[in-house]
Amino acid sequence: MTWSERQRAMLAEMGLRVWDTPAADERGVAAVPPPAIAVARPPRRPVEAVAIAASPASANAALSAVATMDWPALRDAVASCTACSLHQSRRQTVFGVGHPQAHWMIVGEAPGEDEDRRGEPFVGRSGQLLDNMLRAVGLSRQAGSSAGSDESSGPADPAKQVFIANTLKCRPPGNRNPLPEELARCEGFLIRQIELVQPKIILAMGRFAVQSLLRSTAPIGQLRGRVHHYQGVPLIVTYHPAYLLRNLPEKARAWDDLCLALDTVETSTAHLASGA
Ligand code: URA
Repeated sequence: MTWSERQRAMLAEMGLRVWDTPAADERGVAAVPPPAIAVARPPRRPVEAVAIAASPASANAALSAVATMDWPALRDAVASCTACSLHQSRRQTVFGVGHPQAHWMIVGEAPGEDEDRRGEPFVGRSGQLLDNMLRAVGLSRQAGSSAGSDESSGPADPAKQVFIANTLKCRPPGNRNPLPEELARCEGFLIRQIELVQPKIILAMGRFAVQSLLRSTAPIGQLRGRVHHYQGVPLIVTYHPAYLLRNLPEKARAWDDLCLALDTVETSTAHLASGA
């Protein structure tokens, strides 16, 4: 892999030094600058709003409707959800952001204060670190856009785009950990998002993303470094950016995880292209 000046700057900001070794070249990642930010969206059309209600019976019925929703219906269902008590304290729901057919899907934990205020995942300090890491490998979240919203479309290569979503769409008060019942009530939204995006790779960041997608409570350190699968989609486990901010030396491991994800996508793309 060879590194552009910009990528070097990003990696330096992450506290990582890079060397252009032959082994890295073999990885075959083009040292391209980040793609131009563009917006690609499905056309907005009227949908029947499905309110996800707090009573168990009606919540179950409404949540099963989630399984067949398109982007606009899903966005509306998240925005009006009252299935758990988090709706009482949220400023707004945080649906997710990115290209609706992004090859990369990033799954985090839950909105924090900044995300609750802005309505977009990973916009605080963790988000800056995440964006820097993604930019370093030529990926972008198409800032300011998200699937199922109203903005205009524009060209973007889905292979260079990410869709970012959280396991919870509402902020837990005081940034406490998500409760099992909250995760269970919210899970259908994430499942449907993954079905709609159909990513080529999922990056599960932190233990709640891992618990939701892999049903594993094993420590991240035990799960990272190999390829898991979620519904047939390769899934890489990595540290949550907030953890990396508190444990700077672990950034090197997170970088390894990102490289493993890159390798995995490239291998499966090459495999498909060869018709094997
Ligand atoms: N941490 C997360 O997991 N998600 C966010 O959106 C912000 C911080």
